Amino acid sequence: MIITTQKPLEEILNYLRPYRKIFIIGCGTCATECQTGGEKQVQEMKEKLEKEGFEVVGTGMIESPCDERLTRKFIRAQRKNGRALDDAEAVLVLACGAGVQVVAELLDKPVFPGLNTHFIGKVERIGRFYERCRACGECVLGETGGICPVTQCAKGLLNGPCGGMADGKCEVGGWTRPCAWVLIYERLKAMGRLDLFKKFRPPRDYSRKAGPGEVVWR
Ligand code: SF4
Ligand code: SF4
Repeated sequence: MIITTQKPLEEILNYLRPYRKIFIIGCGTCATECQTGGEKQVQEMKEKLEKEGFEVVGTGMIESPCDERLTRKFIRAQRKNGRALDDAEAVLVLACGAGVQVVAELLDKPVFPGLNTHFIGKVERIGRFYERCRACGECVLGETGGICPVTQCAKGLLNGPCGGMADGKCEVGGWTRPCAWVLIYERLKAMGRLDLFKKFRPPRDYSRKAGPGEVVWR
């Protein structure tokens, strides 16, 4: 899931101050799950903006604003049902950065983010989110016992542990967190696959990761 948190209200107000009529869009998937951009948060944001003197001309939820097809469909439906979206002087999107950008690409008016986007992570429970993937494009989980060294190792090392490991803990943060490479070793040992631990992974060619990223099926 894409993990997001709400931006401080003051930052949102600063974006919106030059405008009066605002339309708010929420995300029915990740931001709903994170409780940052679901229906409840959209309504709460509406109330906060109205208290600050804005006119919220409309609100709406898109199942996944990052999906251009769904966002186009939402915009078409809004235009069929009334003029709220067209009347808005600015749009506030409570979704991840990808969702905000899709809305901005499709609307010919100022679009602003209401959330900060942090990472692809696991949800332990609401309010406890942990990074698990940085979308590196060359997944090595098959060689590391299902533990991601890019996100779990503080230095993102593909071969470890480094010299900063002591008693199974990582030097980064003062030996309070487990060293990812010790966890990987233990997992691979339990799997009877220490051959994978001994395998050298060459340095990555990060120039191949230069953005903007694309995955296009031919
Ligand atoms: S190695 Fe880690 S960061 Fe890369 S794709 Fe796999 S889980 Fe994601
Ligand atoms: S101690 Fe382990 S987790 Fe920390 S930086 Fe070194 S290899 Fe990575």
